Amino acid sequence: MPTPPIGREHILAWLHEENPERLEALWRLADQRRRECVGDEVHLRGLIEFSNVCGRQCAYCGLRQPNTKLRRYRMTADDVMASVREAERNGFGAVVLQSGEDPELDPSWLAGLVRRIRRETKLAITLSVGERAPEELRLWREAGADRYLLRFETSNPKLFASIHPGSVFSRLDLLRELGRLGYEVGSGVMIGIPGQSVDDLAGDILLFETLNLDMIGVGPFIPHPDTPFGRLDPKRWLDRPGQTPNSELMTYKVLALTRLVCPYANIPSTTALATLNPSQGHRLALSRGANVVMPNVTPARFREQYAIYPDKACIDVGADGALTDLASHLAAIGRTAGKGRGDSPNKGRRATDWTKRR
Ligand code: SAH
Repeated sequence: MPTPPIGREHILAWLHEENPERLEALWRLADQRRRECVGDEVHLRGLIEFSNVCGRQCAYCGLRQPNTKLRRYRMTADDVMASVREAERNGFGAVVLQSGEDPELDPSWLAGLVRRIRRETKLAITLSVGERAPEELRLWREAGADRYLLRFETSNPKLFASIHPGSVFSRLDLLRELGRLGYEVGSGVMIGIPGQSVDDLAGDILLFETLNLDMIGVGPFIPHPDTPFGRLDPKRWLDRPGQTPNSELMTYKVLALTRLVCPYANIPSTTALATLNPSQGHRLALSRGANVVMPNVTPARFREQYAIYPDKACIDVGADGALTDLASHLAAIGRTAGKGRGDSPNKGRRATDWTKRR
């Protein structure tokens, strides 16, 4: 379905738009594109936060190594399998195995776990374990992993380097490598990182398009008190000229524009957004471009230690009735829970030669 290309000027104009009536037009466009290109199903992924051990020092994230307030954990393979079963029992099409960047993660342990999930279930398997060596990405792909999430966080290289010290690999190179290995490739950004301008954000959206991503997650930056960014005075960074606000509204704008530039991508309604608006966040995101929700199936005893930011809102499948509620909420906005794996239609459509991409 042809749509006029959306250039930087157009994106910037929407990012600066504040008028609710005019913004209605953006929400409508995004919702229409979503329906035409990925349909009315909302795909559910069971999120398993299998370890909070991290060797990195990212300025934004509560899992950063110097944060000694967290009790660190690594789930056993049996614990992970119990969560996988929970996802299966609830009819989800996929699980997402996410963790900090654990320097001691044994690649063959994870490969074994992937093989076990592959052998024992029909679920699609997504990994989100940070910046890892291409050989490891290959090992896990060969073991049966289908998808990989690695947000580039910001397209501004200076800002990225300052918030994310010590990288051995370039995230953009890794994303291209993931594509070559045959993964469904997911990335995304935080909105309102201190020092991130609205121009940067327009660049982020254009980079989604350039990378031709299959999955794109965007969520507001939420300060965590035990991080360098959480200790900044919000007045000082938020008031700087050109600074992107880490607001709910800005998140919806980015979500909607992302749907317009990458119409066939799977786009989740993120937990960070629901944290800003627990009662309406998911509903509004799903009506403004999103088509995926990721309920949390991490056992409660670990979940509170996976504090990437404070007061994380979770759709908790452990609580009785939570999923019935979800199904009725979906029905109320004319949507249904997806059946099957919910693969990204973008992957089948994109050119396989990633080497030519920027
Ligand atoms: N270690 C993995 C998984 C990190 S958690 C990795 O680095 O890829 C997944 C995402 O949570 C991150 O990519 C980041 O975009 C987001 N995140 C981390 N800290 C956050 C914060 N304070 N506010 C909002 N989102 C945050």
